[in-house]
Amino acid sequence: MKNKIVIGNWKMNNSFTEAEELLTSIANIMEDMTLETEIVICPAFPYLEMAADLAEDNSFPYYIGAQNVSSEEKGAYTGEVSALMIKSSGADFCIIGHSERRMYFHETNVCLRKKTDIAIVNDLIPIFCVGEQLVEREAQNHFTVIENQLKESLFHLDRSGFERVILAYEPVWAIGTGITATPAQAQEMHAFIRSLVAEKYGTEQAYNTYILYGGSCNSKNALDLFLCKDIDGGLIGGASLTANEFIEIIRAAETSTKND
Ligand code: PEP
Repeated sequence: MKNKIVIGNWKMNNSFTEAEELLTSIANIMEDMTLETEIVICPAFPYLEMAADLAEDNSFPYYIGAQNVSSEEKGAYTGEVSALMIKSSGADFCIIGHSERRMYFHETNVCLRKKTDIAIVNDLIPIFCVGEQLVEREAQNHFTVIENQLKESLFHLDRSGFERVILAYEPVWAIGTGITATPAQAQEMHAFIRSLVAEKYGTEQAYNTYILYGGSCNSKNALDLFLCKDIDGGLIGGASLTANEFIEIIRAAETSTKND
């Protein structure tokens, strides 16, 4: 039995106080629940330390992740946030390659490769996102796009580096649109990704690699997605901003693990 991972990506939302309140609400509802599912919350940079402190104080266990990391180690890069800063603020994870970063901040596969390396060197676990645009799927190029993203940003890693990485398949057309990939579409891509990992790193590593689904995942569709053989949990955007909704998704992850 493989437990699930559920990650909340808060994006650029919430004031400091709202972020504190949301974490406290989640913790209050979940208090003393025994979970198989690992939970990671990714708030904005200025809230990492507060979120990490709250995670330590709470009886509800969760990890903290950043939403981005600089591709540079340190120095004169005004406005950048380094892997060391993130790690020393109490976070253990870091989203890399989110489609919003690729799209709005022009992050390329080469740049994302550098970010992944720097995260691993600084003992952060990369949550590496891959996903195709709608036009690419319509042109039947979606498998090639995902394969290139993996090969150009991740497959240079040796096995000890790669085993630290969590993958998230996030079809761009499903992010924040309310359109979810069907369980069959998601499963098909997850199985493909796992086959690529198997080819490169072997079947044991392929089994151990977490491949999460992201894209308009919510309390209504989560269970059907999580029951798919190759879906190991979810990367949740909008639905992670409401305590009850996020908790229902965690419950779906728990149910799917028990049905494994
Ligand atoms: C995301 O931003 O990673 C995401 C999956 O967003 P949403 O759930 O809102 O589609």
